[in-house]
Amino acid sequence: MTDRSAMTLVWFRDDLRLADNAALEWAAQGGEVIAVVIDEDAAATGVRPRGAAASWWRERSLSRLAGRLLEHGVPMLHLAGDPVDIMTALPGLLAVDAVVWNRRYEEPLRFVDSRIKETLQAGGTEVHSFPGHLLTEPWQVTTGEGRPYRVFTPYSRAATPVAEDAVAQLVEAAAQVPADLRGPEKDLPEVPFPPVRPVDPAPWAASLADHWTPGEEAGQAVLAAFLTGDRRTTATGSPGYADGRDIPDADATTGLSPYLRFGEVSPHRVWYAVARAVDAGDVPAADGSALHSELLWRDFAWQRLYHRPDLASRCVREQFTQFPWRWDNSLPGDVKHLGDATALAQDLSAWRSGTTGIPLVDAGMRELWTTGWMHNRVRMVVGSFLTKNLLADWRHGEQWFWDTLVDADPASNPFNWQWVAGCGDDASPYFRIFNPETQRKKFDPELGYVNRWVPEFAGPEAAHAGPYPPPMVDLRESRQRALAAYECLNAP
Ligand SMILES: Cc1cc2nc3c(=O)[nH]c(=O)nc-3n(C[C@H](O)[C@H](O)[C@H](O)COP(=O)(O)OP(=O)(O)OC[C@H]3O[C@@H](n4cnc5c(N)ncnc54)[C@H](O)[C@@H]3O)c2cc1C
Repeated sequence: MTDRSAMTLVWFRDDLRLADNAALEWAAQGGEVIAVVIDEDAAATGVRPRGAAASWWRERSLSRLAGRLLEHGVPMLHLAGDPVDIMTALPGLLAVDAVVWNRRYEEPLRFVDSRIKETLQAGGTEVHSFPGHLLTEPWQVTTGEGRPYRVFTPYSRAATPVAEDAVAQLVEAAAQVPADLRGPEKDLPEVPFPPVRPVDPAPWAASLADHWTPGEEAGQAVLAAFLTGDRRTTATGSPGYADGRDIPDADATTGLSPYLRFGEVSPHRVWYAVARAVDAGDVPAADGSALHSELLWRDFAWQRLYHRPDLASRCVREQFTQFPWRWDNSLPGDVKHLGDATALAQDLSAWRSGTTGIPLVDAGMRELWTTGWMHNRVRMVVGSFLTKNLLADWRHGEQWFWDTLVDADPASNPFNWQWVAGCGDDASPYFRIFNPETQRKKFDPELGYVNRWVPEFAGPEAAHAGPYPPPMVDLRESRQRALAAYECLNAP
């Protein structure tokens, strides 16, 4: 489309940004733009409903996106219902010439998109989809035999040049925000789909707002703060990303995960900005490559989900489908009930509420409940504690994270849970059981993180004197129990 007189409908999904947005860029180059967002009916699509914290985030991000689009005269329709019904009817009702979106990769949503594309194209509407959520498309990086990688290290080696090319195309070639973005001159006609009514946030969500500002501008500010070192507020000085990313009290990581989750900041922009900061000597090269590698872990998780759509419900390593994890039937799935349901419910409740009596686990779970986020090192520790010391099925943990993380993501969450539990591709071996006390001594030696979230834990000596509960399990015994379960699994 080159004559600049067309009208294009841009369907925003997990790409809630104006900058580095290939679909929006294409639409703006063609002429007038209308935006649409859909709260997709899970019963119609079969998609897993978004968790509560992520829904909180999305709602706020959408209102910021609508405001930014309006500054350019672009109206944003926010509708609810079956996306196939809406997206096959809307282009005709609005008399647009083309429909565009940035791709999504999870089933069943990618099939929903294919159906819409086919129907619209058959009716004569131009439709285009673009990359933008990931650095590499999930089918793009393959082994010499054309198969998807299942191990990260060779994957990341092969993916790096592909990612660099994609960054050059999206960020270096495109303007930040399309220069000529504009909306239609005429008012939009009424459309027969219900607009979304704002829902009252759950009371617990109030504390999320104390910790986060969703939206593209906030995301860019978070990226800038990371690059200038402003986020790293630790009293012990800045350890840098590569050395500090395992220290939960150091604030050494970017804090970008929810912005990447909702596409308020593109991974291309982060990659590019970090590379430029390294070139300029503002960020050490080791920090730059460590961060690039984490972005590739994100792509890798999506590549695995693309090839394993049941990642959230089924162990990738088949032998683990027989593992005697405790399961309370509160989740859908084909797992048989195992163990004493009441005891498991109590254990899960202690884990979720951060009252296990294990300070690093409790600190992490309370950080999650209060802020909707948890430090990566601590995510691994609480995951190991749940699946090994408590022998609870990893899907209970995955579901809790799905509901409570603002960055809860259909790929990264199940992928990392399977990694921690030992049943995923390239996973941490099951017998690697984190000792949460050793982890605390190593990564929180001054107790800065633990004291922030568990103030009643007054240090190892005073631990049992105050109101802080004693450990709910003996770490040594529960470790032996987990190893014995693993041995049974491997017995001939
Ligand atoms: C059990 C478990 C569950 C997790 N669930 C999620 C989830 O639902 N959503 C999510 O985005 N991350 C998840 N992670 C990965 C990781 O913990 C977070 O991405 C990270 O803590 C976010 O903080 P940050 O943005 O400061 O990270 P940084 O260290 O600054 O990393 C930059 C970006 O790289 C990506 N990244 C970093 N580590 C990983 C990783 N291990 N896997 C995939 N991408 C990564 C994220 O997009 C992150 O924002 C999970 C990890 C574990 C162990």
